[in-house]
Amino acid sequence: MTRKSIPSDIETAVLSKSKRRCALCLYLNEDTHEKCGQIAHLDQDPSNCAEDNLAFLCMEHHSMYDSTTSQHKNYTISEVKAARAKLYEVVGFQKSMATIEKQRLESSHSTALDVYIDVSVLNEDTSSWNRGENTILRYSLDRNELGIKIEGNMDYLTLFNGGGPIAPLDYISTAGCPFRWDFPILDFKILNNTQAPLYLTEVVLDIEQSHANPAPLLTIKKDTHRRNAGYLLLVNESSCELINLIVSFDLLAGKVEKPADFVPPFRYSIPLQTLNDNAKVDVMFAFRDAGVDIDSLILLSSATLDQNNYIVRKADGSEEWMTEAEFEEQYRKGLGPFQDEVGTLVGKISFTTLSSEDHIRQVYFHAPVYLANENRAGIPKPPTFAYDSVLDVQNTDYQRRIQISQLLPPGETDRFTLKVAVAQSSSHRFRATLYDITGLALQSLPIEMNCFVPGSRKKRLEAVIASKSSNLSVEK
Ligand SMILES: [Zn+2]
Repeated sequence: MTRKSIPSDIETAVLSKSKRRCALCLYLNEDTHEKCGQIAHLDQDPSNCAEDNLAFLCMEHHSMYDSTTSQHKNYTISEVKAARAKLYEVVGFQKSMATIEKQRLESSHSTALDVYIDVSVLNEDTSSWNRGENTILRYSLDRNELGIKIEGNMDYLTLFNGGGPIAPLDYISTAGCPFRWDFPILDFKILNNTQAPLYLTEVVLDIEQSHANPAPLLTIKKDTHRRNAGYLLLVNESSCELINLIVSFDLLAGKVEKPADFVPPFRYSIPLQTLNDNAKVDVMFAFRDAGVDIDSLILLSSATLDQNNYIVRKADGSEEWMTEAEFEEQYRKGLGPFQDEVGTLVGKISFTTLSSEDHIRQVYFHAPVYLANENRAGIPKPPTFAYDSVLDVQNTDYQRRIQISQLLPPGETDRFTLKVAVAQSSSHRFRATLYDITGLALQSLPIEMNCFVPGSRKKRLEAVIASKSSNLSVEK
């Protein structure tokens, strides 16, 4: 594709310094992808083959650069040279990074002569999440000579397991889930130090054991749009039933962001038998007990407006006419100590699980509850799930095979990623083996992976996984 007149050593220098990246693509669009392109003569003289006169440009930018009939103000020589300098810097940096990466890989695991394999874990980008750090799930990696341990961590989980205090979480998001959560992405890096190219065609996961992890987890759903007045909303985010639930609390006036103490005994207590998915716990009785005239508020809120007067229909059928000021006064009186139409529950939730009925767990909490509703807002969209393979929740000695296509020339490193789905919180022990087209098998260290899946996602995930997994995986 390049012009014959360029001496091959100069051509090689230009191609390897640019790594077939276009200087103008980088300069204009920060695009560093490999391009189909040509070596351009910057002074437009095809006989001037000095290296400084040459730059690798994509087809589009080359023809734009060369074009003379331009509506477009042409790129200048110095502009392209500056762009080329930037490109060479970027490519050079990537090469030195590749060297470091190579050295690191050479100290990693090898089951075949001079081929090294390393597995780590990637997390999805979480920069768009604006609900705070404590609700972001991240997979962490712990590696030694014996194996690799991958663990899902989230501050909310730590807080919950430590007994709280937990506060309501916002469920109104595109995912309908209070957590920034995703499956782990396995990141495979391979270094080929042999003399021959490697052509990897398959990853096989040999799973020794998968088992469900029924750790209890519950959340309080934030009444984001004020449409659950009088209720405390509980959601079971674990994969197991929570039983013998007791919600005990005190009721404070107004919205208290950071209550000072959580000292039992608490004034109110509500026993719930079982928390399977979620529950609306009616706490209006506590407001009534704390001085709210609920009956009067209900009557007032069903009043009709006639000209400037409110008409309140009483229980006995009689009507009372009020001016706006009188109505307001009655309403304020009815609210008692809760003039902002909101109170804060402060207390604890205790529960057990079926697998350990004797072990009473408890978590402290605080949550505002409104006395009146506001208008409804939109319903969140259901999320889509993307993954490359799916592991069982409860199984032993099975296999997953994933087709890949990775060519590794001698001396090169390469990588690919694999997103692994699970239908619920579970732990997995497995090894990954990469197969070369010649039958060469590269085995990873043993991997132990603990995945957290929010209970509120479970049902939908199970449906999606059931419908898609058949063509993704093969039983041994
Ligand atoms: Zn370009």
